[in-house]
Amino acid sequence: MTDTHQQPQPGNACVDGFQKTSVLIVDDEERIRHVCTQMLTKEGYDVAQAANADIGLEMVAQRHFDIILLDLLMPGISGLEALEQIREMHPDTVVIVITGYATLDHAVNAMKNGAFDFVSKPFSPQDLRIVVSKAIEHIRTLQDITNEKSRVRTMINHLAGGVMATDNCKVVALANHAFLNFVDHRGETPIGRPVTDLVKDQKILAMIDQALAMPGDQFAELNDEITVASGADGEERIIEVRCVPFRDRLDRNLGTITVMHDVTALKRMDQMKSEFVAMVSHEIRGPLNSVLMQHKVILDELAGEITEKQREILTRAYDKISALVELSTELLDLAKMESGLIAVDKERLQLASILEDQLAFHLPKAQSKSIALELIPLPELPPVLANRRNMEEVLSNLITNAINYTPEGGRVAIGAEIDGLFVCMKVSDTGYGIPKEELDQIFKRFYRVKTEKTRLVIGTGLGLPIVKKIVETHNGHIQVQSEEGQGSTFTVCIPAA
Ligand code: ADP
Repeated sequence: MTDTHQQPQPGNACVDGFQKTSVLIVDDEERIRHVCTQMLTKEGYDVAQAANADIGLEMVAQRHFDIILLDLLMPGISGLEALEQIREMHPDTVVIVITGYATLDHAVNAMKNGAFDFVSKPFSPQDLRIVVSKAIEHIRTLQDITNEKSRVRTMINHLAGGVMATDNCKVVALANHAFLNFVDHRGETPIGRPVTDLVKDQKILAMIDQALAMPGDQFAELNDEITVASGADGEERIIEVRCVPFRDRLDRNLGTITVMHDVTALKRMDQMKSEFVAMVSHEIRGPLNSVLMQHKVILDELAGEITEKQREILTRAYDKISALVELSTELLDLAKMESGLIAVDKERLQLASILEDQLAFHLPKAQSKSIALELIPLPELPPVLANRRNMEEVLSNLITNAINYTPEGGRVAIGAEIDGLFVCMKVSDTGYGIPKEELDQIFKRFYRVKTEKTRLVIGTGLGLPIVKKIVETHNGHIQVQSEEGQGSTFTVCIPAA
């Protein structure tokens, strides 16, 4: 964005490319009018003059002047009276009063009544130049603010996204057309009214409260999604809502900005993509399983004897196909969850028994790697509202990873504790750990940390994305702490029932 503000240039009145700065001189002294006109015309201003306030006011009624040099002491209408009328007709005109000899009181009085500055007789061309330059700078600043406001207003009004601003008393300060459409507001302008008159959605109102309560040293964008019915057919639209506080120089919250985006099309596309992946992986998994079975028949020599060389080749092929089956199963699980194809039935569950079952299930694998798999004594835990199979899958994935990424002789501990309104399950290991810069990547699909130590572990990079998706569908959260070479702790928190 280029800055339109230019320094006032006394010698060139056509600074902004629009018009020359117009100046009206209202003074009954012909000599003063003459000197001022000569000097200002030479500097490039568009100068007009009036011999008394009556004529001056007539001219002001006809056209707009940027600056008026107004003598205070004139026969007929006084300068002060004229000042009042000018301010009424053109509040943005800058009035500089010309005061008589040693009449400072008059000047002060005129400034109290809205004059911008004064110049006392007798004055030199330099005095006049200074006071007019100051006036021009003032006009430019005001113009810049107005231009900026107009630019921002036009931009906001033409955005496809909805934008609304409130002040810190939750009064609407701005709302563009898109926002009014999103909240289905018709009729009178909501500007100046409480935000609750405009927005009915409790999630958005809570976000505004939260943004306003955010301490000055913290800045976080609040995100959520809401569903609104739109159009004559009442079709549902998914709207992404973001809310942030805006602040003054001292970081005090001045109000909030709420932005809304229609993400229905994106969500639909994402769902179609997931459905497609689910369909493809399902179709692939069937034939792959059958190839696997046939390999097994040959390997078990049920179809005749095989040589050592053939066994070696077939075993390698069998392992590769097994990995593909595993991949397609995990892809299918994830895609099903993402597309919402499977309904997640929830029940009141005691996580303690699931933890114990999972420990027993994974014990043989841990023992085969000489890893001590332990259950940390559990406190009394409230039940959670969750899907049993999902919870088993979460724990199974985390324990499998802990065993896979811990060298022989290590330790894996599982446990659970209460944290506020959540029950949190923990899986800790003394394994390879995860580099800090990769910690937020491991929940992405197919992401695998590649180090000398993890390179040999077979995996798909889909376990943690599945875990994360399950946790999200249960309104919970997952966290990981890890130190390279020291081990990792995964914590999954599910709301207590
Ligand atoms: P994978 O099938 O590769 O195990 P995941 O999605 O379960 O896929 O995990 C992603 C990556 O995160 C893994 O490849 C591994 O590098 C890292 N990771 C997961 N759990 C652990 C752990 N307990 N210790 C060290 N690294 C881990």
